[in-house]
Amino acid sequence: MVRNSVAVIGLDGMSWNILEALFDRGVMPFFKSIVRRGSFTATLKSTLPPSTCPAWTSIATGVNPGKHNVYSFLSISRGDLGFESKVVTARDVRYPRIHELVGMFKAKSLVINLPATYPPEYNTAFKTSVVVSDWLSPEIKAYPAEYEELAKALKTHLVSKVTAKPPKIYKLMEERVERISFETLNVLEKFRPDLMFIVFSEPDWIMHGDPLFLKGDNMHLASKMFNAIDDFIKEIYDVFDHMVFVSDHGFSLYEKGISVVSILKRRGIKARSMGASKPRSRRKITEMFFKIGRYRRIRPLARVVAKKLFKEKYSERIAPYSEFEVLFPGSDPRYIYVKPGLEDVVVNILKEVDLLKVYRSYEVYRGPCVSHAPDVLVEPVDYSYLLLTKEREKIVVEIKKEVSAHHPYGIFVTTGFECDGCEMLETYDVVPIVLYLMGLPIPSDTDSKLLWLKEKPRRYRYSTKWKLLKSLGKGRLAI
Ligand SMILES: [Zn+2]
Repeated sequence: MVRNSVAVIGLDGMSWNILEALFDRGVMPFFKSIVRRGSFTATLKSTLPPSTCPAWTSIATGVNPGKHNVYSFLSISRGDLGFESKVVTARDVRYPRIHELVGMFKAKSLVINLPATYPPEYNTAFKTSVVVSDWLSPEIKAYPAEYEELAKALKTHLVSKVTAKPPKIYKLMEERVERISFETLNVLEKFRPDLMFIVFSEPDWIMHGDPLFLKGDNMHLASKMFNAIDDFIKEIYDVFDHMVFVSDHGFSLYEKGISVVSILKRRGIKARSMGASKPRSRRKITEMFFKIGRYRRIRPLARVVAKKLFKEKYSERIAPYSEFEVLFPGSDPRYIYVKPGLEDVVVNILKEVDLLKVYRSYEVYRGPCVSHAPDVLVEPVDYSYLLLTKEREKIVVEIKKEVSAHHPYGIFVTTGFECDGCEMLETYDVVPIVLYLMGLPIPSDTDSKLLWLKEKPRRYRYSTKWKLLKSLGKGRLAI
């Protein structure tokens, strides 16, 4: 049924200017040869806001968050007394991902580190999928369990990615990529999928961890890690008929910021952040216990305590409306949840600031899950400004030490696809392209507006079938 096999390689946070700077320094020579050899290349515009979880979910579904229901790292619902917040998991996703789509045509898939795939058993893929859940999962798990070694590889230096500083972080991330590549290649020896979807989070982590990388100063420190990804690409190049390279957003340095929380607080609005993680002290203790767990004699107890603390991070938390008239989930000021009844007030205050673009949820998202979306979204008119949740003396501030953060433009590269007028792609365009490369029909309700889709009329109502199977409790990897 499947005409071609496809490997989708995700490079989290990669933008063209960074990739070209790496190529210029002789890094990733094999990938460079693919890009230069006449592959199709485009800029990929991220979701609004450009954030990892919704962007990857849109890339993997072909629809906007209003249909797939993933808006940020957190799932926020509005209770009677306050906002309820928890980390997004596969249970929150309301639209089939690419491995679930191809599973309906009995295509085999291998999915590694795609956000919101935990618990892996919950993915509806007709036992044709091997799924290893992502770094955000309460525990990284493989389905089927025989692929546990790959899950272990994905745990390599996971805790240290938030604590390690340069140059150490580069060494750790290099070891991590090597371990994941090695175990993935092992899996490919015995399991030949029609579709592989792997996300390398490490580029995003080093760019968050070291602004000097984006300045070009520390790029040499990252060359081994990027070359390890390049070696992996080289290894699998002949295994699959086609390759797709995609990032969920880009990265940039910021010297100026706009304090969204100050705008609201000055007008008497109780605006606060709430994350899924516990305060810093709790995180430090968790990491300490993980570290102690390396010593054999105290390992059992230390591990139990660390796991308990780690899991607690993901339990549901409640933010009462009496203290939270505005909630920024995960300290992200671009998403604004508003206490019921105050929406117009908040929108009007924010709209007075010329440097901001302000949207109501229904202006950005379309679909049955919009009622679950943040009430208001903001982005800077000019992406040289970073939006901040910390309260500042002034609303617009100079950031003393440059900060690296996401920006909206990522990359897209593929072999075997031609398209005129497709220089700028949306996240929603990836699924139709991958399915087209595989020779499978396009989802009838995709949000992709690519013109070439008009010439490829074979469509299929994947989501209707998926919802039916889910309601019957069928198709799960395991129950
Ligand atoms: Zn990302």
